[in-house]
Amino acid sequence: MGQLNDQAAVVTGAGRGIGRAIALAFAGEGADVVCVDLQADFVQETVDAVRQRGRKAWAVAADVADAASVAAAAEQILKEPGRVDILVNNAGITRDGLLMRMTEADWDAVLGINLKGTYLMTKAFTRAFLKQRSGRIVNIASVIGLIGNAGQCNYAASKAGVIGFTKSVARELASRGITANAIAPGFIETRMTGALGEEARAALLKQIPLNCLGQPEDVAGVALFLASPAARYVTGQVLAVDGGMVM
Ligand code: NAP
Repeated sequence: MGQLNDQAAVVTGAGRGIGRAIALAFAGEGADVVCVDLQADFVQETVDAVRQRGRKAWAVAADVADAASVAAAAEQILKEPGRVDILVNNAGITRDGLLMRMTEADWDAVLGINLKGTYLMTKAFTRAFLKQRSGRIVNIASVIGLIGNAGQCNYAASKAGVIGFTKSVARELASRGITANAIAPGFIETRMTGALGEEARAALLKQIPLNCLGQPEDVAGVALFLASPAARYVTGQVLAVDGGMVM
């Protein structure tokens, strides 16, 4: 018996990195997983890996920043698997630059995917959560949304927004047994941090008490906890998974 036996989870940005690790962690605990990404073929490898764990998996294409695309994906998901118990809003991007040089396009792209995408996806499944009087919403924020970062004002604003959104949704939906929590990862080894040079990496390590970057599985373990029966009484929280960067 897994902790998530026969539950259906939706994970956005499931093709790689943290989203992929969450999909696999959930499948390992008995959940069926809808893997959402910009194109269905981007998540095929994750879908195959979920199926290898003996669970059902679906590849669903959606741009989380686009209302029509999210509506179509939600309609498809509510037909098959027909039920959603857990929603993980993980899809996210960076378009870094100092404020003085931050283009409107880079601002809009980051806010669109990271924050509006979280709103659109959550809204799309809220009616179903309310009807079944249960649901777990896990939003992937960032420590940057807590402490800010020079060169990432758009990203920091989007992730601070995700935290405020999560707390508001937690308050709105709590009376129906639905929880909403956020995870604030620090620096996790994925494509997003892969571009860091040696110097930046060394400077970064100085800020991390545990003295190493995190792995996608470190975030997945906390997402699994928040989706599991053990977190029944936890809502509106932000859990940092950051090697002690923010404390
Ligand atoms: P990643 O490896 O770049 O993966 C991001 C995933 O999101 C990719 O599968 C990407 O698809 C997908 N995606 C991007 N735009 C999308 C859209 N419009 N609609 C649907 N899916 C979309 O990044 P990651 O490091 O795993 O990041 C996952 C989440 O963790 C993000 O929200 C990120 O902000 C957050 N986070 C990461 C770190 C870190 O250190 N890595 C730290 C704090 C927070 P494509 O493959 O098609 O681009």
